[in-house]
Amino acid sequence: MPEMIMPPPQAEQISENVYRLEQGFVRFFLFIGEEKALLVDAGFGGKENLKELVASLTDKPVQLVLTHADPDHNGYLAEFEQAYMHEAEFPACQEIAQSAGTELCALADGDVINIGGRFFEVLHVPGHTPGSLAFLDRVNRIIVTGDLVSSMMPVFLFGEGRDLDAYLRSLQRLSAMKGSFDQIYPSHGVFPLTSDYVDKMLTAANKYRAGELQAQDPPMPLPAKMYMDGDVGFYF
Ligand SMILES: [Zn+2]
Repeated sequence: MPEMIMPPPQAEQISENVYRLEQGFVRFFLFIGEEKALLVDAGFGGKENLKELVASLTDKPVQLVLTHADPDHNGYLAEFEQAYMHEAEFPACQEIAQSAGTELCALADGDVINIGGRFFEVLHVPGHTPGSLAFLDRVNRIIVTGDLVSSMMPVFLFGEGRDLDAYLRSLQRLSAMKGSFDQIYPSHGVFPLTSDYVDKMLTAANKYRAGELQAQDPPMPLPAKMYMDGDVGFYF
């Protein structure tokens, strides 16, 4: 990957105990519970200290979880003593974790994270990566989906570890659950998205599979083509 300079993360409050952290083209989240705070993803990384920024927002202990371990999601991993993710993502974090002494801890489908008065169900939704996770907060009707769903920013489905069949199954599973959430918190593109974007992505992925989407040149140098269906699409 070419050397990229990213701006430092900027925190923006979404609701009383929720922040989104925007760093260039990637977004991550901080949910503050009564017992602890849950940091979902760790940005692209850079010289600044993410822990200091998070400490300015909450005095609760912080648990880091990753939707997946692409470099725009695990960038500040080395600042943390522990990082939770699906074990299929461990290999992508091993090098950083070993040099920083970060302990990699496994999350599995069906786990529940309790931050005190607020619960997140862990869903294994592979496809974009083998160990992609989503985090469902049924009470507040929010789901954090990493790179599974996005608008105005195509999902990366080319290259090692990507799996269209798994991706379709994951979208089908979320589609069957969409009565459980109103808002999708994606890592890229438009924020937030309504729950019907799961079906928009599913329709687009099925159209891609059927050869119904036009190959376009991507707006940046990528070894892939861009396939759009309205405001959703993919790089393949
Ligand atoms: Zn991403």
